[in-house]
Amino acid sequence: MNKQDIASIKQLLSNKKKIVIVPHKNPDGDAIGSTLGLFHYLIKGNHEVSVITPNDYPKFLKWIPGNETILKYDTQTDVCKALIEKADIIFTLDFNAFHRTGNMETVLESSNAIKIMIDHHQAPDNYAKYTFSDITMSSTCEMVYHFIDMLGNTKMIDSDIATCLYVGIMTDTGSFRFRSTTSKTHTIVSKLIEHGANNNEIHNNIYDTNSYERLQLLGCALSNLRIIPESRAAYITLTQDELQKYDYKKGDTEGVVNYGLSLNGVVLAAIFIEDRNEGIIKISLRSKGNFSVNEMSRAHFEGGGHTNAAGGKSHLSLEKTVEKFISILPTYNKALNNE
Ligand code: 5GP
Ligand code: MN
Repeated sequence: MNKQDIASIKQLLSNKKKIVIVPHKNPDGDAIGSTLGLFHYLIKGNHEVSVITPNDYPKFLKWIPGNETILKYDTQTDVCKALIEKADIIFTLDFNAFHRTGNMETVLESSNAIKIMIDHHQAPDNYAKYTFSDITMSSTCEMVYHFIDMLGNTKMIDSDIATCLYVGIMTDTGSFRFRSTTSKTHTIVSKLIEHGANNNEIHNNIYDTNSYERLQLLGCALSNLRIIPESRAAYITLTQDELQKYDYKKGDTEGVVNYGLSLNGVVLAAIFIEDRNEGIIKISLRSKGNFSVNEMSRAHFEGGGHTNAAGGKSHLSLEKTVEKFISILPTYNKALNNE
């Protein structure tokens, strides 16, 4: 995004517009934080703004300021379609290819609104008139801060905006510990706290709301953990029956994959979760150092993401998916042992 783009966007936002903001399907903390952060900012500019998520999201995100205004495309399709059709501008946040919005793909594709992408994933598609894409950024929330800064409006950041943006930076950086966390990230976080983000409260709201069943599910996942020492890899499986046994709720498996990566010497971790409703195995991959799980997922698991965090899926059974994972590992042994 160059100076000319910023000037054009400033001009575009100088009078009242109908704006829709969309994150990816199964939105996470960064997706909800960035869309609501931008929502509060644009509302202050007197625009008509709606956040539309493709589907529902975990309960631990449902306290974020503005949460009650969010529309869900899968259950409120007609009202969402009408808003998208009438929109002057559509911001797409925390994804860079329409298929990442699931069943919103075609309605977004056919909309004539001006699209603005703000995103930090690899390999952006070319659908937006204005593309702000930067894979070095910790999170889309960090980019929304930069976006507001480029528009010269950081003074407009209030405690609602600060809280939303803090959520996404905190969740996408694993509480400021992943490689994507820079001194700039910390500078921004410091400014967000100054603007009214209550860091302790936000952390408690996101991470300290476990149910007893969720911890039991974690115990189950950890007892299913396997290590493949020659590949410095570890993986976890969860069957649909196991999820049901522990009263699985959306978001309960968030972060579980990281336990594999916490093992001494392990540089690649995976979790395979059976989803019988969708008929797929949902896969999360995480790595340390330069080993790219984005490439691994693109090559073998119909997904992608970042160098150190990617998602994907498999249409094989859980067992066959694990077999496939184990069978492709040797081709990566050299890279994995160089980390
Ligand atoms: P997670 O494992 O938490 O679902 O996703 C890890 C990262 O990869 C996130 O940044 C997420 O947005 C991205 N990601 C997850 N699934 C996919 C996918 O199917 N395709 C692409 N391109 N990125 C994904
Ligand atoms: Mn993100």
